[in-house]
Amino acid sequence: MNDVLSVRSLRRNFEQGGVTIHVLRGIDLDIRKGEIVALLGPSGSGKSTLLQAVGLLEGGFEGSIRIGGEEAASLDNDGRTRLRRDALGFVYQFHHLLPDFTASENVVLPQLIHGAEPKAAAERAESLLSSLGLGQRLTHRPSQLSGGEQQRVAVARALANRPALVLADEPTGNLDEKTADVVFAEFLRLVRDEGSAALVATHNERIAAKMDRVLRLHEGVLE
Ligand code: ADP
Ligand code: MG
Repeated sequence: MNDVLSVRSLRRNFEQGGVTIHVLRGIDLDIRKGEIVALLGPSGSGKSTLLQAVGLLEGGFEGSIRIGGEEAASLDNDGRTRLRRDALGFVYQFHHLLPDFTASENVVLPQLIHGAEPKAAAERAESLLSSLGLGQRLTHRPSQLSGGEQQRVAVARALANRPALVLADEPTGNLDEKTADVVFAEFLRLVRDEGSAALVATHNERIAAKMDRVLRLHEGVLE
């Protein structure tokens, strides 16, 4: 089976002031090894809710989520944490880098948590950051980097443990248009070079058109 992700009949409701809103109404979704898929939809359509479900970050869902063939619903908390660490990488709209750590350390840390040797982790961090043009920024802290550079560090961090699937939620949504295009092109190139698959939430049609496939989230289903 070549699917890194297989989602079936995924549903999510929220209660808001005594009213039930049906955000995800039966999502079916498959992503193959190495495939880069856009999740397009206007603000409030449920893109982040879907990524949180697939990222095993939140409960409250009905349906099936299989990651690398493993059914998430049949795992306990430790199992979900392991699967998340082994198989997934995350990029958010705001980089969420650790402010007291250097660019390199931000990319090293998840590898150490994952059991890598410190030397190998540092080499991989340098290689990833260099391929994103940050070879001269390894010892800078996030506050010493531009917005585009910070987001590149977040991309390197997401790929550090060689995830089968990267989940990106509006990864360039906080950048000006020109920087967003450059950083997104680099993100695509690196994800492809690394052989990872990606599911990228965006409301930007232009960015979506650069991916292998575009899914539209409309009234709680994909079309
Ligand atoms: P998008 O990422 O596409 O902008 P979201 O997934 O953030 O959309 O939100 C989809 C809908 O779900 C919105 O109507 C939002 O208000 C609602 N929603 C999201 N998270 C919660 C929550 N924790 N509690 C209540 N409603 C929520
Ligand atoms: Mg969102």
